[in-house]
Amino acid sequence: MGGPELDTLIQIFARLPGLGQRSARRIVLRLLQSPETRMVPLARALADAARAVRSCSVCGNLDSLDPCSICSDAARDRGIICVVEGVGDLWALERARVFQGVYHVLGGTLSALGGTGPDDLNVSGLLARVSGGAVGEAILALSATVDGATTAHFLAERLAASGVRVTRVAQGVPIGGALDVLDDGTLATALMARR
Ligand SMILES: [Zn+2]
Repeated sequence: MGGPELDTLIQIFARLPGLGQRSARRIVLRLLQSPETRMVPLARALADAARAVRSCSVCGNLDSLDPCSICSDAARDRGIICVVEGVGDLWALERARVFQGVYHVLGGTLSALGGTGPDDLNVSGLLARVSGGAVGEAILALSATVDGATTAHFLAERLAASGVRVTRVAQGVPIGGALDVLDDGTLATALMARR
């Protein structure tokens, strides 16, 4: 349509979540209408983020600090770990401002169909964190899917062996609903009503 550079750019945007060819064309057009104020700053921000952002070596959060800003925050309660599937879930809980402990990002759920086993997730890191004895409670905030429930059951057994109290968030959410799509009020209620 307008040369290989333009096509490449549109295809990259079109593959992003929530976008398609039509949205991608509109975004690229808007960027190109003011390259100096929109396109150049975007290119710089992308390069900066790609260079600086890493997985936290403690919890798996994405941050330009390692340990991340949550793990290194002295005001957070390190005695409570909230276990989530992905960074998007962690961000959702942070947005809701209902949790003052620390997190552990698993990187997915166990899945027999998908061929995901315990070694594919950050399970050993979690067990290592609770084995020190400083953690009193692990909250399992996993999605209400079959795989989420299987993962919660598996983790509860492993964690109980190390003497930590294991709770689960009460999820009054649609089956298969991940934390990231919940509104803040529902998230807060789910967290408060853990058992
Ligand atoms: Zn961290």
